[in-house]
Amino acid sequence: MMDLKIGLTDRPENSEDRESVKGKSYDVIIVGGGPAGLTSAIYAARENLNTILLEKALCGGLPATTDIIENYPGFPEGIKGMELVHKFKEQAKKFGVDIAEYREVKQIGSEGNKILIETSENTYQTLAVIVSSGSIPKKLNIPGEKEFIGKGVSYCAICDGPLYKDMDIAVIGCGNSGLQEGEFLLNHVKNITFIEYLPYMTGARILQNKLQKNKKAEFLLNNELIAVNGRDFVESVTIKDRKSGEEKQIAVSGVFIYAGFLPNTGFLENNVKLDHAGYIITDEDMKTSVPGIFSAGDVRSKNIRQIDTACADGTIAAISARNYISELKS
Ligand SMILES: Cc1cc2nc3c(=O)[nH]c(=O)nc-3n(C[C@H](O)[C@H](O)[C@H](O)COP(=O)(O)OP(=O)(O)OC[C@H]3O[C@@H](n4cnc5c(N)ncnc54)[C@H](O)[C@@H]3O)c2cc1C
Repeated sequence: MMDLKIGLTDRPENSEDRESVKGKSYDVIIVGGGPAGLTSAIYAARENLNTILLEKALCGGLPATTDIIENYPGFPEGIKGMELVHKFKEQAKKFGVDIAEYREVKQIGSEGNKILIETSENTYQTLAVIVSSGSIPKKLNIPGEKEFIGKGVSYCAICDGPLYKDMDIAVIGCGNSGLQEGEFLLNHVKNITFIEYLPYMTGARILQNKLQKNKKAEFLLNNELIAVNGRDFVESVTIKDRKSGEEKQIAVSGVFIYAGFLPNTGFLENNVKLDHAGYIITDEDMKTSVPGIFSAGDVRSKNIRQIDTACADGTIAAISARNYISELKS
């Protein structure tokens, strides 16, 4: 497990990039350098669109925070998350994309056919923008959570579940995500202790019924996760009964936390429609409610959030942006 966004490029290279792009206007501006944004960049550049990608930290997105990716097609032995996104970035650079890292987008607004993008450093003008700023897992901010990410603490069952084959784990949260992901995890692990803060589960009744019949699942409702413990890897969790106040430790090798995700959309103008959870609503061409603003990847409203689905969105968004720009210019 590596630290978030360390190592794809270093700052001096980016400083140079920053100067070279300052003040320019572009055909397409991509917000976010994760799988969706980098794929959009590759496709947009290959369409001869003058393209810049703005990334608030270093490129890579969420895959840069996970060790091995085993389900991305083309790598039968698996590939390090960092290595995979490094390849994405190299490919985008090869086709001439300007990549500006440490350039956080603060606001996106439109003025006629032009879209204005304000970053931490300057304002850009573009015909089309692809918002691929992803989402971040909600953290519980309890002792041990941050320290053990990738060493037993996970927010992604599809990605990390198979690593816990025949082990005891805990799933935190009995909402739809926790129960759905828990159902998937039960195919791999020995036992799951589901821990829910509320005195009842909030996930779909049909899922509750199904899981309660499963002998490998145990439910501790009205319990709060207060710490994740271990030396090099997770060894146990500490929970607190919210009624009696009693604390106890449960031995587990993994903790999957489903306290929800937060989409990164704070910089959008008000007329970009969002769903009830704050994700960007698009049609199947990745068009949002505002002409010229497209969206791709985890930040948009959809059911499956994976690297390959983010890449697929990125491809579609870039081609849609090309079509939109061609119409504007004709
Ligand atoms: C721990 C973990 C492990 C995972 N493992 C797998 C796996 O094994 N296989 C798999 O297929 N999927 C996996 N996933 C899911 C996968 O990582 C996501 O579906 C995928 O990264 C989505 O790509 P994205 O480009 O939409 O968003 P992200 O990867 O989240 O990238 C978004 C980027 O936008 C940037 N950004 C945000 N706001 C701004 C702003 N204002 N200005 C500029 N830049 C901004 C962020 O810094 C980030 O780099 C995992 C997820 C997690 C959390």
